[in-house]
Amino acid sequence: MAQSIPEMYGSLVFNDKVMRSKLPKDMYKALKKTIENGTHLELDVANSVAVAMKEWATENGATHYTHWFQPMTNVTAEKHDSFISPTGDGQVIMDFSGKELVKGEPDASSFPSGGLRATFEARGYTAWDPTSPAFIKDRTLYIPTAFCSYSGEALDKKTPLLRSMDVLNKEAVRILHILGNKEVRHINTTVGPEQEYFLVDKDLYKKRKDLIFCGRTLLGASAPKGQEMEDHYFGALKPRVAAYMHDLDEELWKLGIPAKTKHNEVAPAQHELAPVFDTTNVAVDHNQLTMEIMKKVADKHNMVCLLHEKPFEGINGSGKHNNWSMSTDTGVNLLDPGKTPAENTQFLVFLVAVIKAVDEYADLLRISVASAGNDHRLGANEAPPAIVSIFLGDELTDILKSIENDTFFNNKHTVQMDIGAKVLPHFTKDTTDRNRTSPFAFTGNKFEFRMLGSAASVANPNIVLNTAVAEALSEFSETLKDVPETEMESAVHALLKKTLEEHKRIIFNGNGYTDEWVEEAEKRGLYNLKSTPDALPHFIAEKNVALFTKHGIFTKEELNSRYEIWLENYYKTINIESNTLAEMIQKQVIPSVFTYVEKLADTAAAKKSVVADVSVASEAALISRLSALADTMTKDLETLEADTAKAFTLTDDVLACAKAYQGAVLTDMETLRKSADEAEALIPDELLPYPTYDELLFSI
Ligand code: ADP
Ligand code: MG
Repeated sequence: MAQSIPEMYGSLVFNDKVMRSKLPKDMYKALKKTIENGTHLELDVANSVAVAMKEWATENGATHYTHWFQPMTNVTAEKHDSFISPTGDGQVIMDFSGKELVKGEPDASSFPSGGLRATFEARGYTAWDPTSPAFIKDRTLYIPTAFCSYSGEALDKKTPLLRSMDVLNKEAVRILHILGNKEVRHINTTVGPEQEYFLVDKDLYKKRKDLIFCGRTLLGASAPKGQEMEDHYFGALKPRVAAYMHDLDEELWKLGIPAKTKHNEVAPAQHELAPVFDTTNVAVDHNQLTMEIMKKVADKHNMVCLLHEKPFEGINGSGKHNNWSMSTDTGVNLLDPGKTPAENTQFLVFLVAVIKAVDEYADLLRISVASAGNDHRLGANEAPPAIVSIFLGDELTDILKSIENDTFFNNKHTVQMDIGAKVLPHFTKDTTDRNRTSPFAFTGNKFEFRMLGSAASVANPNIVLNTAVAEALSEFSETLKDVPETEMESAVHALLKKTLEEHKRIIFNGNGYTDEWVEEAEKRGLYNLKSTPDALPHFIAEKNVALFTKHGIFTKEELNSRYEIWLENYYKTINIESNTLAEMIQKQVIPSVFTYVEKLADTAAAKKSVVADVSVASEAALISRLSALADTMTKDLETLEADTAKAFTLTDDVLACAKAYQGAVLTDMETLRKSADEAEALIPDELLPYPTYDELLFSI
């Protein structure tokens, strides 16, 4: 009989239920303590967990284990070791020790390290993250781990993420205690990432070098139909897509990933998946796995899942919405306005801390989503602009205004505050409207950061968000720490008022897609960091180095290394795109132009041989147009190749190099594409070397 979904759910995860059944009681308790409070794990506990894990994994068909980690690439890394251990008599036993569980030593020298490599040996360490559950995939036990250098520098995304969660926990608990909420001992940040993607037919995909090498089309005339009819968003699922989504859900559920929502997105062939939110590091791990499983399941259905931020020109690209909040171990969502005045005070403090954090570190938030792929999307019409601003909705904005102006908030009427009235506004429930153009929107009881690209890990934006909010809370605590209880409410009022005065410029409830907003944002002094090379230098700006080093998230060396890695990643991406485009133009587009021209010339000559004075005007016109386009492409291709070669000589100065790719190379690629797309529109389908947008977008 088929498994029920509750039975299937998490069946490949070493979850609480398995731990409880497999571990001795005291060991289970010790492990739980580590998971919940981040306490140190003793080796005897690790040994006991290792035995239980191995037993469970082998019972479920696993033969190997791997330390699974997230280096500074956009994918995860794994090296598999089998459980076998020879016993010396030609036999083996299946073995796994606490030491093997807790620590691995992969060779780190072939991962991006941005200069850190020079200062450590090739060796790196992986360290078990017990807060993210181990799971079985393809008969291997996967153990989520952090990845560090020999000298302890972070070489991955998990280490700083865990550090940032710790820091926010510490600062949030501190301010809660100051505000009189003494029961809370721990807070967690929570994340629910909505993931967009495209599906294309695999046979078509295989015929396009740009999709294979770059994940996006570099060429392609628009299909006659795009997204203008607005008929795809939430449309009925086609059977092939529905079957894919069904399989995908099952695979994710087995891995304990709570896939919840699925629907068609705005562009043709575009879809979305959203899980139920989870603790941030688990959500980050799950999102990495989700992206991987999406591709794997697509392959089984003879499709390819495209996670690139802009696979097709002229229609929407794909992003990821990072829904983010904080919740206490007493079960309170700190961004939920709550029902009572005390909860309101607490809520307002956290809300205003987020406002301050986003305003002060808007550049870092922008950087946390910067990539060559996402640059095609941010600022284009479907995505929020590259300017970071916060949407709060009218009601919350009015509440904050009443604090700032010392008026009394009362159900949409603001009246002058009475003597004796409570200092802070009381309100029942926020009714935020929907605003899809804001990059950072308050949506009832959480913030939704919408600038993320679809392909990247969600770790970086959450590292920035957690750290920036921790800093704001820490400054609040410094102001409030010695205030007597009787004066707390007015002290909080004064603090919120001052903070709002300083940071209200970041709040914008209007349409973020307009030119007026760009002008207005400039007047307000907000950042508008349009491209990755524009944005990245701010990462190592003094205030940002101060933030990260103060909270122990990154050392100065780690910051510099990340800065280098991102710039390198940026120019290398465009370099591959440039090479791919050059090859496609030279070996595919121009030859197909020639083939068609030859065919046209043959047709004209053949016609003439039958009827001497027959008109060959249409053949002649096409031949002229196509020949001119071939000439233009040849010339533009030379320019592209020259500019790419020149940009590539600058790699010693990564920023200059990235800028050269962003300036000259990307512009050349755009220019070249124009002629190629025009030629494509003139050439009959059967002579085209690759499938068109019509086929790619409407094949499934
Ligand atoms: P939308 O209308 O934007 O699709 P949903 O209510 O469906 O909004 O939520 C989108 C995502 O936000 C889901 O992944 C959901 O689990 C997540 N989410 C809801 N509450 C929280 C929270 N407190 N913290 C983090 N994520 C949350
Ligand atoms: Mg959403």
